[in-house]
Amino acid sequence: MITITLPDGSIKQFDHPPTGMDVALGISEGLARNCVAATVDDRLMDLNRTIERDAAVQLITTKDPQGLEIMRHSAAHVMAQAVLRLYPKAKLTIGPVVEDGFYYDIDMEPISEEAFDRIEAEMKKIVKEKLPIERREVSKSKALEFYRDEPYKLEMIQALADGTISFYQQGDFTDLCRGPHVPHTGMVKAFKLMKVSGAYWRADQSKAQLQRIYGTAFFDNKALKKYLHFLEEARKRNHRRIGQALDLFSFHDEAPGMPFFHPKGMAVWNALLDYWREEHRHAGYVETKTPIMMQRFLWERSGHWENYRENMYTSSIDDADYAIKPMNCPGGMLLFGRKHHSYRDLPIRAAEIGLVHRHELSGVLNGLFRVRAFHQDDAHIFMTPDQIQDEILGVLKLVDRIYSKFGLGFHLELSTRPEKSIGTDEQWQTATGGLESALKAYGREYKINEGDGAFYGPKIDVHIKDALGRTWQCGTIQLDMSLPERFDLAYVGQDNERHRPIMIHRVIYGSIERFFGILVEHFAGKFPLWLAPVQVILLPINDDLIPFAKAQAAEMEKAGLRTEVDQRSESLKKKVRDAQLQQIPLILTCGAKEKDEGTVSVRTLDGKVRHGIALSKFNAQISDHIAGRRLELDLFD
Ligand SMILES: [Zn+2]
Ligand SMILES: [Zn+2]
Repeated sequence: MITITLPDGSIKQFDHPPTGMDVALGISEGLARNCVAATVDDRLMDLNRTIERDAAVQLITTKDPQGLEIMRHSAAHVMAQAVLRLYPKAKLTIGPVVEDGFYYDIDMEPISEEAFDRIEAEMKKIVKEKLPIERREVSKSKALEFYRDEPYKLEMIQALADGTISFYQQGDFTDLCRGPHVPHTGMVKAFKLMKVSGAYWRADQSKAQLQRIYGTAFFDNKALKKYLHFLEEARKRNHRRIGQALDLFSFHDEAPGMPFFHPKGMAVWNALLDYWREEHRHAGYVETKTPIMMQRFLWERSGHWENYRENMYTSSIDDADYAIKPMNCPGGMLLFGRKHHSYRDLPIRAAEIGLVHRHELSGVLNGLFRVRAFHQDDAHIFMTPDQIQDEILGVLKLVDRIYSKFGLGFHLELSTRPEKSIGTDEQWQTATGGLESALKAYGREYKINEGDGAFYGPKIDVHIKDALGRTWQCGTIQLDMSLPERFDLAYVGQDNERHRPIMIHRVIYGSIERFFGILVEHFAGKFPLWLAPVQVILLPINDDLIPFAKAQAAEMEKAGLRTEVDQRSESLKKKVRDAQLQQIPLILTCGAKEKDEGTVSVRTLDGKVRHGIALSKFNAQISDHIAGRRLELDLFD
């Protein structure tokens, strides 16, 4: 008798060692059809492997993220099989699952995407053949013998410990693989090859160059289509593309990874910071500024010199070592320590829009998302232990207000004490308890990442969700028990004794450059009026009307609007089209009628046109809309 315990506690008994498939069939045929693999006492196993002893079994279906990963790995095998059928001289190396799909690195003649149709057609045949995927265990010597003509697989096997090695076979194809896999190739239903690029064996440029073929796979065509549509949307919204089209920012070889912001980009930037400053003033923050370059002994004290040096830009001047700051914190500690503090002064909320530099490898740089120089909307809050909850709650509310302004949803994650950490149990309890009670008081759900905090304290991360449903970690609220210690910060308590303040670092935009990039993609370049680089463009319908258009623009600039006059001798149609491509929210045509009446004709990006709005009314309405920083352009109706 074999006793199988299912996750809901129910028990199934078998008079023979069952396979995972037998367990699934014992529940229902429908379930069995959608089963991908099984977890047997926490070990992943193929469905057709027998379970030799009593065990806790969890079936993995097409609905589980893990099921998708397993199927994608099988899809990599199907692709490799197809490639070998079409290119018999190809030699396989490794083919892992990656985010959103899989790839296989293959030593073969260079191919282009034009080869994809043929490979996909061959893959379809293999899928249609519904070949059973079977696991076989062999000794190391057998495995070496089997792969005697496959140099890459040989090299991999040689590196393995002695003992049994597993192969997976489907029809004429065998691969060295740990598994698990779906039961047969027919489960690889909806797939697509995405791209091919060169890759070196073992990522070593002195070794053979391989073809890395990327693909993706889903359990049904609908999911595949949805994913491809998402990619197309993401491509259209790419902030580098839009940044160039709207003339917002650029990168130059003279400073790799360090963005240059153009006048239009700065208009957006300043609008972001004006808003940020307004919110922070209201929330009781003061603003500070610390140097970007400071002496080595500061960085030794903060620990950056020892722990972060390879990411820092350093220099020597007047026989002294300096480093450009990678973080604003040490400067912030010096400012707090510059004078004596009483408990009555706390909390102190000191913000700094600080420019930091961190050296990143050139390979990981990615537009504004990953740069080497960026501004953080930092703040350090110094407080007494009994202020933790209120202060964290205050930050959470501020986070909520600011993200909502952009129509960004978000979720919260709390990371607790890791294995290696400084501080006493009591300190951690106070700190983590403070964050938790603030989260509870705030009332939103949050996820707990057990043991994921920094060594110096627990933290709350805020993940925003953009218009495409992608999530980005931007905000973070991090409690720090290390820096106040290193900088010997103190305040005098009610008891007249010296106490260490509790300190948090927090950002909301995070890297302002990155947040800028996220907003470009979130709005697809169609910024709300208050953020738009150019808010109003005036289109004189002939050259005689240019002075009138300019006069109107001057009135609007006085009312605080960002305007442009299109003085080109182009047709009105062309001017309108170009203004739409620039995503300018308000497009005004200036004709003789408007001049005579002192009115404006407004076209919005939704294609609606309104005539005969008095200029004074227009200015007042628009200024009002901008002051309220409203998301939707719901005017003149
Ligand atoms: Zn494999
Ligand atoms: Zn900090």
